[in-house]
Amino acid sequence: MRYISTRGRAPALAFDDVLLAGLAEDGGLYVPETWPHFSPDEIAAMAGLPYAQLAVRVMTPFLGGRIEPAAIAAMADDAYRGFNHTATAPLVQLERNLWLMELFHGPTLAFKDYALQLVGRLFDHVLAKRGQRVTIVGATSGDTGSAAIEACRGRERIEIFILHPHGRVSEVQRRLMTSVAEPNVHNVAIEGSFDDCQDLVKAMFADRVLREQLKLSAVNSINWARVMAQIVYYFAAAVALGAPKRPVGFAVPTGNFGNVYSGYGARAMGLPIAQLAVGSNRNDILTRFFETGVQEIRAVEPSLSPSMDIQVSSNFERLLFDLLGRDGAKVTDAMTRFRAEGRLAVDDAALRAVRKLFGGHRLDDPSTIETMRAVHRETGLVIDPHGAVGVAAARALRRDPAVPMVALATAHPAKFPDAVEQAVGVRPALPPSLANLFKREERVTLLPNDLEAVKNFVRGRASLKGAA
Ligand SMILES: *Cc1c(COP(=O)(O)O)cnc(C)c1O
Repeated sequence: MRYISTRGRAPALAFDDVLLAGLAEDGGLYVPETWPHFSPDEIAAMAGLPYAQLAVRVMTPFLGGRIEPAAIAAMADDAYRGFNHTATAPLVQLERNLWLMELFHGPTLAFKDYALQLVGRLFDHVLAKRGQRVTIVGATSGDTGSAAIEACRGRERIEIFILHPHGRVSEVQRRLMTSVAEPNVHNVAIEGSFDDCQDLVKAMFADRVLREQLKLSAVNSINWARVMAQIVYYFAAAVALGAPKRPVGFAVPTGNFGNVYSGYGARAMGLPIAQLAVGSNRNDILTRFFETGVQEIRAVEPSLSPSMDIQVSSNFERLLFDLLGRDGAKVTDAMTRFRAEGRLAVDDAALRAVRKLFGGHRLDDPSTIETMRAVHRETGLVIDPHGAVGVAAARALRRDPAVPMVALATAHPAKFPDAVEQAVGVRPALPPSLANLFKREERVTLLPNDLEAVKNFVRGRASLKGAA
């Protein structure tokens, strides 16, 4: 099993190299050279497996023998043991043939835990074998930072620095990051916006000396291992609902297109997925694309589902690669023009092909509140604004009422208490594992929006100290 870049000019790599590389050298994203395939009998045999064992079954073909079977089994076990639900990714029925998959039972209450808990362990394992260390640097507007910190806390081979905009993340989000006591975790509050934080991180990666000295690395959503780990819960849900005999559809609240691309991958591996409904908030570039075949960048506007306030969906390039016949030169050309002109168009044949599987649905804030309210009224369930976008997309886009649809609930309602209270009149409680979150001690360093100040802080704290 080897991985190739969507831009066609980087060397093909094995799993462990792709894991550590993140982005390919030519600016592209890594995808499998060919998708592994499970027969209907192999899929049927997945029924009833505990989540960690299913994860090993689904991921093993992607590893290409680069991680020993006992090691991946131990990592999967350890990664999912700490989740707050015995089913790990439970299904809850909303109505006939409409299900909610709860992907918020990890330590930071968002679906990102399902991949990052494993990816942190994979990093540590591969780095230990190589005798290497890395410094992970990232910027967050809230969710990603806490999931990355939880994944890396206490890992021997990793030092992690997360920049967040001072005073502009919610208290739950901030405390999930700053109350982590392990000495390899460093929180920096920047006197500036999220964009300022991102620019600081980009500037650090652009400094070649710093990058080499500290072995800078990232665990962002384009990392192949995250896509791989997310494929597992598509198998879990579909098999529970009758695959391989019965097809299943999924509705996915989408930002960077990472989660829903994993569904696309599951289908490429033989899972009978009838349709993928892509949900967006008012930042609807993907909805417009599935309607017209054109992506046009507009300004990002804040919404009730902030983890989807995104205009350029970085993982879309992986789908584009297939739409353009896996031709790296065409992808390079399209992406270069997209960056320069803010516009990306595919031809009619490609649009027809993509619409066979995908559809897009946009939900504005008032309709998001209304969906949360309706689900609560009809079922008693309290869902978060991102999950509401998924449920609305499932209802709006479902093609065959006889095919079960699964809407992905990507965040715990307690992460977005204000929107939940507005919709259903109650403030959801944090799960017991986080009940003392507001009493925990916080550790954070406030820095000005100044590159030298941030670099000095990172250099001073990084245990690598000049990569001795
Ligand atoms: C990150 C996130 C999303 C978007 O996921 P993508 O993989 O970027 O599409 C949706 N909902 C929540 C709660 C998130 O944290």
